[in-house]
Formats: sequence, structure tokens, C-alpha cells
Amino acid sequence: MKRRELLKYFSIAPVGGAIISTGIPFKSAIAAPRSAKRDLIKELGLRTFINAAGTYTAMTASLMHDEVIDAINTSSKEFIMYDEVQDKVGEKIAAICHSEAALVTAGCWSALVLGTAGVLTGMDIKKVALLPNVESFEKNEVIVQKGHNHGYIHALTNTGIKPVEVETIEQLQKAINSKTALMYFLNESSLLGKIQHKEFLEVAKKNNIPTLIDIAADIPPVENLWKYNDMGFDLVCVSGGKAIRGPQSAGLLLGKKDLIAAARLSAPPRGGNIGRGMKVNKEEVLGMYAALDRYVKQDHDKEWKMWEGQVAVIENAAKKAKGITTEVTVPPIANHTPALKIMWDPAVVKLTSKEMQENLRKGNPSIEVMSSAPNTINITVFMLKPGQEKIVASRVNEELTKAFA
Ligand SMILES: *Cc1c(COP(=O)(O)O)cnc(C)c1O
Repeated sequence: MKRRELLKYFSIAPVGGAIISTGIPFKSAIAAPRSAKRDLIKELGLRTFINAAGTYTAMTASLMHDEVIDAINTSSKEFIMYDEVQDKVGEKIAAICHSEAALVTAGCWSALVLGTAGVLTGMDIKKVALLPNVESFEKNEVIVQKGHNHGYIHALTNTGIKPVEVETIEQLQKAINSKTALMYFLNESSLLGKIQHKEFLEVAKKNNIPTLIDIAADIPPVENLWKYNDMGFDLVCVSGGKAIRGPQSAGLLLGKKDLIAAARLSAPPRGGNIGRGMKVNKEEVLGMYAALDRYVKQDHDKEWKMWEGQVAVIENAAKKAKGITTEVTVPPIANHTPALKIMWDPAVVKLTSKEMQENLRKGNPSIEVMSSAPNTINITVFMLKPGQEKIVASRVNEELTKAFA
């Protein structure tokens, strides 16, 4: 058949209806004719915005690069055995991150759950089926520093494991007993804990206890992808959909071969376990790899300079308004990118933080920024598309100038 006849036969409109590689467009013979590509954002009237806030879960975190979307689209047209995708992608990711093995998980949160589950069960299928009822387990306690014991610990306790809080190194030594299954470290809270990585690992190794670290949002710098594996943590958990810009619902569990194999017993495609709902489809498994591969190869110095330039554009525009002070800082851990703080004198600029956020939100185009204090907005640029800094700069200046009393 000629291409034209083929198209007619399969009821595919030439616009956007490409014939795919296998030759047989799945479903096309019964599908309604497709005209123009649907834009569901427009069709459903969803608000889009310029993200000058950062990689916030509620703001859908990050945008995937074209390479990631290509990986998702291409792989969506074929069947593959699920474990074979995870095996192959796991090998590649482990090589990048200097770990023995790797698993693409449903976000960093699920990496925390599955990693802990693996530590608790090992390869014992009976134990896998028992989770989260771990009372009968010989080892069912996790040691956590007081400063690290908030929010994300819930991922670990989902497995049934019991947190044991410690503050000092002496308390840590004393807390270790025959029931200790795991020692957990929350990297972003490093400075809130009295025990730092090296000392923590020394105690763990001496007592032969596995360690798990959460570095969810702590990339950049790119080196953090392997730093904690090199340091000796047995399991490392990372968000895929933050600065790495993989699918928002993907993450990485990196670590020891035996522990990753054990973690996979609690994860799809297997069922009858606590992780059955933490499925990452094959498209996102491959998309995650594509994102990571792109991320480690990109020019990070150049990107950093671009961020500094974008921050300067917004800072300079803000400072043109009266009563303004600004500050640029870089958080040492987590969201480690240039962050701009714009503060105003409320006697000069009659505007609350909330009003400023709302005005930027309601403008055209809509802009999202954060606020950490009264008369203050906080801006990051790492989620901006090139050129959007100019729009943010002019809108911020406009609102500040308008509110001048
Ligand atoms: C974001 C975050 C998580 C959760 O990561 P997801 O990829 O959204 O599942 C866990 N821990 C920390 C410290 C985080 O910042």
C-alpha cells in the first residue's frame, strides 16, 4: 500500500499521526480520526506558570528535557519484561553512581521504604509477606539522630521498623543492640545532628549495621550522586524528579547488591508486599535513566554561571524599586543553587509577602515565588526556562514600584 492509502486505511490524519517503527499502529484501526494534537492544559483550563520557586512537589517539581520525553514516548510502543528493564537500567545507573546495584523507584520516598524493607527481610519471602508486622523479627529497630527525626522518617516506619532516637555518639553506641536493623542518616539535616557522616559510618561498620542515607534534593552538586556510595553508605536514596529532571514520580535506590535484590522483593512486579503500590512504569524507568545520563554529561559550571546571570537580572530589577534590599545565598545542602531573597521596608513598600505572591500569581504570565518571612520573597532560577528571568525581573519590579507608598 502507498503511504496515503495506509494512512486512510488506519484512519490516521497526516497531521501528527506518524507511523511507528513496528509498522502497525496499535489501536489505529479502531481509533477515531485524529485531527490536531490535543492540548489538555488548554482544554481543561489549567493554570501554567513560570516557576521561580524551585522543585516543589506541589508545583510538579521539574520539567523533563526532550531526551527524557523521547525515551518515554519510544518505549511506550513496545512490551518489555519489567524486571529486564530494571536490571539493565539498574546496571547503567549503578555504574554512573559508583554503587554495586540500583533500582528506579517511585520517588525518593519509595526508595526509603523499599531500602528499609530490604534490610529487614533480606531474601526471606516469608518476612516480605509479614511487613509491616515486624514484631517477630530478630532485628526491627532503626537508629536515627534527633535532628534527623522528622517528616521523612515516616517512609521508614511504613515498614514497621521502630525508630530509636539518639543525640550523641555515646548514646549511639549505647543504643546499638541485637535488635538494631539499620542506621538512618538524613543528609539535609546534617548540621542539625551532632554526629557527622564519617563518625556515623565508623560506628556502623564496627557493629556491622547497614546504613541508609536520604540525599533526595541534594543534587546538585552532581558529585553527590556517587559521593555517599564512595563514602560507604550501604543504601543511598535520591529524588529523580527534582534537579535531575527525571519523571516527577521517579527516584533512585542505590547501594549494595544484596540489599537492592532484597528491596526488589517488596517492589513490583511482585505483589503481596508493602511496595506493590510503588510502581514505576517502564517508560519512567527508562526516562529516569535518560535524565540521569543527560544530567551527568551536562556542563555544570556553565549552568551555574547561567543561574548567577539570571539571578543578577532579577536582583538588579528589584533593586531599582525604593526600599529594597537583596541577598544572594547558596544553601549548603539541598537545593544547592543560587537563591535570591528580596526584602522590602514595609514603611516604604505597602505590600505583604502574601499579597506580593498573589499579585505575581494573578499576573500574565502567572509566576510562583516562595516567601520565608514577612516583607520578603524568595526566588530560585534553576527551574526557569531561558529568558523567563527577564519576565520575572520586570514583574517583580512592577509590583514593588506600584506598592511604593
Ligand atoms: C523530596 C524529598 C523526599 C521525597 O522525595 P520524592 O522523590 O518526592 O519521593 C524525601 N526526602 C527528602 C529530604 C526530600 O527533600
